[in-house]
Amino acid sequence: MHANYHSHTWRCHHATGTEREYVEAAIEVGFDILGFSDHSPYVFPGGYCSGHRMYMRQTADYFRTVLSLREEYRGKIEIHAGLEIEYYPKFFKETLAFLADYPCEYLILGQHSMFNEIESGAFWPGSPTSDVRRLEAYVNTVSEAMEREKFLYLAHPDLLNFTGDGKDYDFWYRRLCRTAKACDLPVEINILGIATRRSYPDMRFWRIAAEEGNRVVIGVDAHSPAQMRDRNAYEKAEAIAAEAGITPERILGIN
Ligand SMILES: [Zn+2]
Ligand SMILES: [Zn+2]
Repeated sequence: MHANYHSHTWRCHHATGTEREYVEAAIEVGFDILGFSDHSPYVFPGGYCSGHRMYMRQTADYFRTVLSLREEYRGKIEIHAGLEIEYYPKFFKETLAFLADYPCEYLILGQHSMFNEIESGAFWPGSPTSDVRRLEAYVNTVSEAMEREKFLYLAHPDLLNFTGDGKDYDFWYRRLCRTAKACDLPVEINILGIATRRSYPDMRFWRIAAEEGNRVVIGVDAHSPAQMRDRNAYEKAEAIAAEAGITPERILGIN
C-alpha cells in the first residue's frame, strides 16, 4: 500500500499515539504518503465539546505538529494534514468557517452520528437497525454532504448497519453509490472495520459499488500506531475488493 490518508491521533480522545509514532509506523511498513485525518472539532452551540472528537482549542496545535513533522520527515515520507468530518447540517457552515483559519488540506467525510450528537432524534448508524427510515436518512444526509462540499473521499460508506429487507438495502445504497460517482468521490474500504470485526466492510455494499463503477480507496483509519502495521488487515481489504469484482485499477493509492 502506497498511501494512507486516514489516520487519527490521541487528540480525538478515543485513539492512542502521538503524530510522530504514526509517522514512524507508516515509514516502517513502507508508506510513501501519510495523511492525518483526526476527528474534526465542531462549532456546537453553548460551547458544548464532544468527548470523542478533537476540541476546538486543540486545532492549532494539531496542525502545527503535523506541519512540523512534514518538514522533519521530508524525503522519508510525504505528510499531509487533513480532518475527518461529520456532516451536521445545522453546524456545518460555522464549522467550515472555523476550520478556514487552519492549513487543512483535505476533509474526509465520515458520518458516524445522525443528525448530530446533541439533538433529539440523533442515532449512531453503526448500531444494527431494520428501520428503513434510518437507512434512508443516512443515505440522504451523506448524499447532501457530498453534493454540498468537496471531500477527498467518503469513509466507510457502508457504516449504516441495515438488517432489514435486502431490496431496501440495494435501493438506498445503490442511490448512495450513484451520488458518490456523480460527485466523483471515491468510497473507502475501511481497514479499522476489518481489524475490529465490525459490520463493515459489508460485501452487499461492495458488490453494488462494483456494479455502479465507483472509484475505491483503501483507508487504514488507524486509531493506534500498531494498527498502521497490520498488513494482514490490508490484504483482507484487497480480497474484499477482488471478491466484489472491483478491479485493481479502480482502487486508488495502491501503487
Ligand atoms: Zn474514531
Ligand atoms: Zn476515521
